[in-house]
Amino acid sequence: MDKYPVMVENLVKLLQIESVMGEPEPGMPFGKETYMALKFMLELGQSFGFVAKDVDGYAGHIEWGIGEQVFGVLVHLDVVPAGENWSYPPFGTVIDGGRIYARGAMDDKSPAIAALYAAKRLKEEGFSPGRKFRLIMGLNEENGWRCMEYYSRHERMPDLGFSPDANFPVINREKGVLFVKCFFEVSDKNLTECGGGTRVNMVPDRAHFVYGGIRRDFKGISAHGSQPHKGENAIHKMMAHLKDLTANGAIHVIYELLCSEGFLGKLGMDLSDEVSGQLTINLGRLDFEGGKLIASLDIRYPVTFKKEEVLGMLEKALPAPIEVINFHRPLYVPEDDELIKKLLAAYKKVTGKEGYCVGIGGATYARTMERCVAFGPIFPDEESRIHTADEYIDIRNLYLMTDIYYEALKSLL
Ligand SMILES: [Zn+2]
Repeated sequence: MDKYPVMVENLVKLLQIESVMGEPEPGMPFGKETYMALKFMLELGQSFGFVAKDVDGYAGHIEWGIGEQVFGVLVHLDVVPAGENWSYPPFGTVIDGGRIYARGAMDDKSPAIAALYAAKRLKEEGFSPGRKFRLIMGLNEENGWRCMEYYSRHERMPDLGFSPDANFPVINREKGVLFVKCFFEVSDKNLTECGGGTRVNMVPDRAHFVYGGIRRDFKGISAHGSQPHKGENAIHKMMAHLKDLTANGAIHVIYELLCSEGFLGKLGMDLSDEVSGQLTINLGRLDFEGGKLIASLDIRYPVTFKKEEVLGMLEKALPAPIEVINFHRPLYVPEDDELIKKLLAAYKKVTGKEGYCVGIGGATYARTMERCVAFGPIFPDEESRIHTADEYIDIRNLYLMTDIYYEALKSLL
């Protein structure tokens, strides 16, 4: 007998909704399509006998039980645009070789359906939850997390939970994220253009300057801003050349403290801790405007440090005004926490493989909640096509993750 009847069919219906962020409409702050995806899930949850709530079109939840504590499973129903180079229609849900191809198949609609079916199975088996279960569905994960910002102001946040929006087994530590801009006055008339990079959280692969009427271009290798060592920073290369052409103090400061070999030590920010590793700084973007060089930094700091400490060090080291653009606090749930032990046990029970915790520099959705970790849906040996062409979910893995979430909820509710 199918433990999860009509699950694939319902997932297919959800995947066919093109829930890319759109123009706001009344009650639909992230556009009609994201709202249609929420409506579909709320109605499905209701049809299973759960209580469903639309939180003003920003997010919603499906709830079960009356326990004092709330256990949250946090997913999102918005998707990034399809992009180019698909072999299948991105919202056509073609099933080929046991895989469903669709934008959002992995990120994050399969986990949303899987978590709901896991709860449904428990309910039908007569399980009575000691903690209240809540499947929270955000509609703006891909564009700034405004959904959860709104949700946390209007609803009681869960006491603990997990977010299936990253990898198995468990991600229990994520570095703090600080995006800052630093403003340097530059008074060298020979410098007429100077800049590189497009996004603060990417290692820039292009930079150029025009000095004394002569243009020089520099190439690097792009990588994610949380792992600057995996790329080659074109701005670093550019500044190494520019500093030899000028005696300008600001240019030498930018080179020495943000670009040169061992610059973290020179900044006094060569920090690390045992649980989450090294602080990293990516100089992701440099702009030259109104006589100022504006350096945009993506700083990832270890979980045992505080934002104020990190900013304090930067302010002390850099002779430049600093402006904070974005901030995510670090996430850390110790491995001996009941939550982690039980999630890893559920993973092992279903897969037969030993579970373990990993740390990352990136930011998962789990950070929006206290005592919450990322748990699935991508298995350690599985390829990830998140945000790329031909995203798919392997149907066997859909069943596997549903079994894991079922076991997890059974031991944690
Ligand atoms: Zn996601």
